[in-house]
Amino acid sequence: MSAQRATSMKALYDLTPFTLLDFPDIPAAIFWFAGCNLRCVYCYNPELVFGEAHIDEAQALVFLEKRRGLLEGVVLSGGECTLYPNLIPFCITIKAFGYKIKLDTNGMRPDVIASLIALELVDYVALDYKAPDAKMAQICGGGSEKRFWESFELLHTGTIAYEVRTTLHPDFLSDEEIVAMAKALKDKGYGREFYVQLFQEGRGTLGHLSSSSRRIDAESLAAYVTLRR
Ligand code: SF4
Repeated sequence: MSAQRATSMKALYDLTPFTLLDFPDIPAAIFWFAGCNLRCVYCYNPELVFGEAHIDEAQALVFLEKRRGLLEGVVLSGGECTLYPNLIPFCITIKAFGYKIKLDTNGMRPDVIASLIALELVDYVALDYKAPDAKMAQICGGGSEKRFWESFELLHTGTIAYEVRTTLHPDFLSDEEIVAMAKALKDKGYGREFYVQLFQEGRGTLGHLSSSSRRIDAESLAAYVTLRR
């Protein structure tokens, strides 16, 4: 399949040409999609959330054509890539080039995740478990825990590799709430690691957050989650 057959639709805000950290075990590029259906206070990428795409599919695919043999995967990140209206055809072309695809998603579009799985277009999914439902509006400006669980069930009952992760700013989620989220996952049969990324000070965020004065009990939390600092 040729990159020239791709659409001129603006797809990406930016792309990272090489990473060894973001797609487990393989060298990959990251495609950063513009736009998001949430407004997380701790979001490190407000320019993606509010920005407009300016790299079209053909440009992205020309890049992938040149990197064949050097890269093995493409991480679809953002923003929220499941909002991109041409995502399925775009993924079909990426797969036809021989690349594996990892999806970074906030889980609010289980319908799109279901389509990607059904069409065998995704090889790995990193699914955000943002917050208990009662905290979704405060932390994410909307969304629902119910949709997270719908996305989770698609992955839990499927065969592709996936992980569940969250970001923790101690002013917004208590240790008890994180433990309750970990227990909820376990009750649903999740036996993998629940990654908790601690909020990192010093980067601009959508909610203009500073660090928290509350200290988490890392030792106690480590019994339930895998902390990433
Ligand atoms: S952190 Fe939240 S607002 Fe930012 S891109 Fe992810 S889901 Fe969207």
